[in-house]
Amino acid sequence: MSTVEVPGALISVGRLPSVCARHGIGARRRVRFVIKSRPDVGPVTEVLHPGKTALGRGVEYSRRVKLVPVDGWPLCEACVRVRLVSLVAAGVLFFGGIVALVAGFVAGSLWPLLGGLVGIFLAVVPFSWGSLPRLTGTEAAADGESVLVKDAHPTFATELQALITQP
Ligand SMILES: [Zn+2]
Repeated sequence: MSTVEVPGALISVGRLPSVCARHGIGARRRVRFVIKSRPDVGPVTEVLHPGKTALGRGVEYSRRVKLVPVDGWPLCEACVRVRLVSLVAAGVLFFGGIVALVAGFVAGSLWPLLGGLVGIFLAVVPFSWGSLPRLTGTEAAADGESVLVKDAHPTFATELQALITQP
């Protein structure tokens, strides 16, 4: 298990391994999403320093972040299931939270209101758990020319190597 680099040249033509990067199992679905880089804009506490603002930090981030659109990324059965379950859980928490919020508001009762707020807030957890960048372990390289896959499965790495060496 190591980090492998998928060249942008393969990504742009959709030549990707037939197995999922995490489990090395044959793809059940192919997904399209955008992979972001993680530019280092310094520690969050920097905004506490004079002359540094959260806005400036955001501008610096958006100036340096690289986006790599990917089409046909392989997801195996297990990945598809994790994604489905986490998105359903996030939806139940979020929309259940909204219903409780409205009900609490209409009834003038505090507890459903608070429960609803907690539900909406907690929906972030399963949502990010099922997010494609986390699920696939991918991030764009700092220059945006390739995609890095953390802890890639050996089968994925082998297939990728074959794609790179066989034009
Ligand atoms: Zn998988």
